[in-house]
Amino acid sequence: YHKSIIRECQLPGETIDGYRINVFANVELFEELPAVLENGAEGVGLYRTEYSFLSRADLPGEDELTDEYVQMAEMLAPRKVVFRSLDLGADKLAKVFGDLREPNPALGLRAIRFSMRHRDLFRQQLKAVLRASVTGNVALMFPMISGINEIHEAKGVLREAQAELEKEGHAYDADMPVGIMVELPSTVFIADVLAHEVDFFSVGTNDLIQYSLGIDRLNRHVSYLYQPLHPAVIRSIKYVVDAGHQAGIEVSVCGELASDPYCVPILLGMGVDSISITPQAIPGIKRIIRQTTMEDCKNLLREVQELFQVSAINHTVRDTIFRRF
Ligand code: PEP
Ligand code: MG
Repeated sequence: YHKSIIRECQLPGETIDGYRINVFANVELFEELPAVLENGAEGVGLYRTEYSFLSRADLPGEDELTDEYVQMAEMLAPRKVVFRSLDLGADKLAKVFGDLREPNPALGLRAIRFSMRHRDLFRQQLKAVLRASVTGNVALMFPMISGINEIHEAKGVLREAQAELEKEGHAYDADMPVGIMVELPSTVFIADVLAHEVDFFSVGTNDLIQYSLGIDRLNRHVSYLYQPLHPAVIRSIKYVVDAGHQAGIEVSVCGELASDPYCVPILLGMGVDSISITPQAIPGIKRIIRQTTMEDCKNLLREVQELFQVSAINHTVRDTIFRRF
């Protein structure tokens, strides 16, 4: 069984009736890459770039970051790698910034807000991503975007980075796709508008669930309320997928929800273009995708959309899965 699933995981994420969904990996450190490919990842859908900042006492410079990103892009090419700009804040803080002392770090100066506050550092990182964009299949996304101005501001820094590279004589891919993570309810509700501002959406369900349900994702006292299949979460993701597709952009889901066997058939039914998950989950999730049909998934989604109790939703999903497997 073990050998067969290892071989099988190198096959594409495709349903019995031929619907293709790309299965990417979430990666935190460069060293994970060999295992990621062995598990059958079709690329890296979320590279959490902040992790290489966390273990050190100083900040990496532009050249050092460029080396890291170029190696990553080269090792994966022609597969895609999506670099997420820094998602630092009081909860995940590089030592050099000291203690931010925020009462509510999840609602504080984190992610894109932190990057905009430390604009020079942000621009350096963007320059490194841009320099890597000529060596592979590279995309960039911004975390925790809450509205249209933040997109414009972040893209402004990206243009500054491009201008500096031109002056310095460094090449970059001017067509590198630029997307945002959809992690806040505000972003969900204006996804139809934001879809015209970016090249792709990536739904970060870990934070989307936290902010939609008001549940601290790290607080075990309320973890019983942290429900991936809460009807509000399902509606949110569906709305984002539809809004993205209406505007002709791709929609990915990169939170843990996408590595949950109960959630994947529902995401398939919505027509999600790709998922990005923990590398170890890829073989099992690909197996589920390869043993189902799009028709089953669409029917399941229709059924689930009529239900408003998580327990009933879980039952329905279980019935569908057991009918198949
Ligand atoms: C998410 O929020 O779902 C996500 C993928 O980002 P992170 O887990 O790094 O916050
Ligand atoms: Mg997040």
